[in-house]
Amino acid sequence: MQTQLAPEFQGTPDGIEAEAILRKCVHCGFCTATCPTYQLLGDELDGPRGRIYLIKQVLEGAEPTRATQLHLDRCLTCRNCESTCPSGVQYGHLVDIGRKIVDEKVPRPVGERALRWALKEGLPSPVFGPAMKVGQAVRGLLPAGLRAKVPAP
Ligand code: SF4
Ligand code: SF4
Repeated sequence: MQTQLAPEFQGTPDGIEAEAILRKCVHCGFCTATCPTYQLLGDELDGPRGRIYLIKQVLEGAEPTRATQLHLDRCLTCRNCESTCPSGVQYGHLVDIGRKIVDEKVPRPVGERALRWALKEGLPSPVFGPAMKVGQAVRGLLPAGLRAKVPAP
């Protein structure tokens, strides 16, 4: 895929790596067949090829939006798409770069930032297991939204 990087990304480590990955993509779309989010949502932009286009546009200077961020957020980073790509496109590396750049340009609402911070810090924390047990013990008393996130014991 021919790519013309915006000046801000030319010569940067992310720009160089992303451009090399993008050049391998031949738009064939084989990857969409094995993408779970595309299978579920049926939107090209929620599949690997669509996300690759979004990242390419940002690297070429387009301003990302909350919608761009959402399509990248929905990717599970399972890299199943890489298993069916005949060109060896390293989608996982590309989406990491794309997410980093989009997050730098599109501020998230405070609540979303707090939730993401809590998940990032909380899930690997040694207190997560005991906290989950407490949550399970009082599961019936929790608000519906929170209860849905706490698995039954
Ligand atoms: S990493 Fe997984 S969810 Fe993301 S585009 Fe590839 S197959 Fe789809
Ligand atoms: S299968 Fe590979 S080459 Fe084809 S569109 Fe997907 S990422 Fe690009």
